[in-house]
Amino acid sequence: MPELPEVETVRRGLEPAMAGARIDGFEARRADLRFALQPDLAKRLIGQTVIGLGRRAKYLLAELSSGDVLLMHLGMSGSFRVLQGEAAATPGAFHHPRNDDRAHDHVVFRMSNGAVVVFNDPRRFGYMKILAPGEIADEPFLKGLGPEPLGNSFDAALLASACAGRKTSLKAALLDQRVVAGLGNIYVCEALFGAHLSPKRIAATLATRTGAPTERAERLVEAIRAVLNAAIKAGGSSLRDHRQTSGELGYFQHSFAVYDREGEPCRTPGCTGVVKRFVQNGRSTFWCPKCQK
Ligand SMILES: [Zn+2]
Repeated sequence: MPELPEVETVRRGLEPAMAGARIDGFEARRADLRFALQPDLAKRLIGQTVIGLGRRAKYLLAELSSGDVLLMHLGMSGSFRVLQGEAAATPGAFHHPRNDDRAHDHVVFRMSNGAVVVFNDPRRFGYMKILAPGEIADEPFLKGLGPEPLGNSFDAALLASACAGRKTSLKAALLDQRVVAGLGNIYVCEALFGAHLSPKRIAATLATRTGAPTERAERLVEAIRAVLNAAIKAGGSSLRDHRQTSGELGYFQHSFAVYDREGEPCRTPGCTGVVKRFVQNGRSTFWCPKCQK
């Protein structure tokens, strides 16, 4: 499943095509993605200008001139691509080397700037939902999400207070979207490596008895930010189905320090350890037992 850096990469790819442009056409080629599309979706989209394209955790949020917000989630295999110029003007020109089967092009936006934005999703775990202004605060998908790891409010004190008293592992705590939003298995493994912290360590050890952040919490916040920023810079990771809106692959998978590197030497300078894998809460954890404590 795409994690925060992949969704942010998609957002940055869609922004020039969508932000500031009016939705002149909207076509849903089926009545449902993961969930049924709302019957009035097209009516509420067509004619509206996209004021801005934001992101919250792994959700894309298109803010419309009507005040409505279109929430979009990529699911497991969803991707957007942007056609411009001749490609956008040619009827049916949605050919893409990634996926010759146009049957998976489920949703098409035609923008006033000439761009055509196509949502393709072979497995159909993605979804779209339009929200009226009053519905956003109570939206179940967004409610209860923890802080944005790249946002200003996320710091060691906030992370420590979310982990204080928690007997779960650090790995499980970071995967909990209420603690911090948008992280998944890959970037949690990478961030724990970057902070030299064991994925098995008890989450409560990020806080002192009074709930103040320990030095470990400071290190972990820095490592989370560093790994996310590096991944966004590389266009995300191209594991499974993630592509950028241009169809290009992301490159961050070549920079993984531990993820998917079982049996390979640790990349910490001076460490003679070997990357190990074990199953934790049903998911593979990759780490160096020698330098992650
Ligand atoms: Zn090591």
